Amino acid sequence: MLNKGRTEEELFSFFEQKKEEDLDYRFILSSMCTLPHPIAVKMHDMFLETNLGDPGLFSGTASLERLLIERLGTLFNLPAAGGYATSGGTESNIQALRCARKSKKEIATPNVVVPESAHFSFKKACDILCLEMRTVPLDSMLKMDAGRAAEIIDKNTVCLVGIAGTTEYGMVDPIPELAAIAHEQGTYFHVDAAFGGMVLPFLDRHIPFDFSVPGVTSIAVDPHKMGMSTIPCGCLLVRDPAILSPLNIDTPYLSVKQEFTLSGTRPGAPVAGALAVLDYLGVEGMRAVVQGCMKNTWRLIDGMDTFGIQRAVTPDMNVATFVCTHAPDRWKVSWTRRGHLRIVCMPHVHRDRIEMFLEDIGEMYAR
Ligand SMILES: *Cc1c(COP(=O)(O)O)cnc(C)c1O
Repeated sequence: MLNKGRTEEELFSFFEQKKEEDLDYRFILSSMCTLPHPIAVKMHDMFLETNLGDPGLFSGTASLERLLIERLGTLFNLPAAGGYATSGGTESNIQALRCARKSKKEIATPNVVVPESAHFSFKKACDILCLEMRTVPLDSMLKMDAGRAAEIIDKNTVCLVGIAGTTEYGMVDPIPELAAIAHEQGTYFHVDAAFGGMVLPFLDRHIPFDFSVPGVTSIAVDPHKMGMSTIPCGCLLVRDPAILSPLNIDTPYLSVKQEFTLSGTRPGAPVAGALAVLDYLGVEGMRAVVQGCMKNTWRLIDGMDTFGIQRAVTPDMNVATFVCTHAPDRWKVSWTRRGHLRIVCMPHVHRDRIEMFLEDIGEMYAR
């Protein structure tokens, strides 16, 4: 601590300098986060002091959280779905595995079956919950091989996980086949749609991944990615609200008697922001955003192709990956574990940015 406080001007000049050290979103092509929608920023400001960890004190904000879950449940074809707002995909996945583990207390050596493409949050979740993590190889399209999943799942499996929109390649696992395998084994089936949950419902092509698929037990979705909310806002949705009940613990001195959430104090501001974006844009508006991102993804893939840079795979969503070893310096891109160049065409990655990037990389690779 400083012994004597600083003036506001001193603070501003220091914090502004720090802010300038951050990268500018206009050059960030590697992130699944994006600039929040202006309506989210406004509502975030309005709900800045709210704490969903004590919902009896903030009953209006708590009802906005229920509305957000209801909107997403409806989007995922189950308006009566249960759930709550998390800090993001990591917490949603941890909590889903907790629910799954609790549903099979009798198993002494529990395991979880995930695809090789699973997000690293499953490693954290399995570590915390002392679960063995078994990984299933991918097929040539970099989707979970359902046949191999059926071989690897066993009577000690407490959860099968499918990914609807992989972080690295934007692929959707064969959710209906995986759901059938989980059902046959009597196992909890969690779909990680942290990224894809706000993309897939708005594509022209129908890709099944949600509660309309029998056997899907829970879904993780992150409004703070394609939902353009402020950070942090994820959601965990469950087919039956009772699925969360085993997580309940008693909460003395709060306005509610029990809670099933992982965090205690929870921000209401990004939840208000997330709901505001959905209600401001509606299905039509979200469709326009997502289709714009898909159009840019295809422009990028086609543009790269003209330089002889091949796509690594044809993505189901707005994640483009390439067989390519170098990218122009001023752009922040990322590289997959398999060594492919990866670009996420988020809402802030406008068409002119794609054209600028293509121009830059064209100079490096032009034949
Ligand atoms: C981003 C992502 C996560 C993790 O979400 P955080 O909000 O970063 O915790 C989990 N799974 C998938 C598929 C993701 O894309």
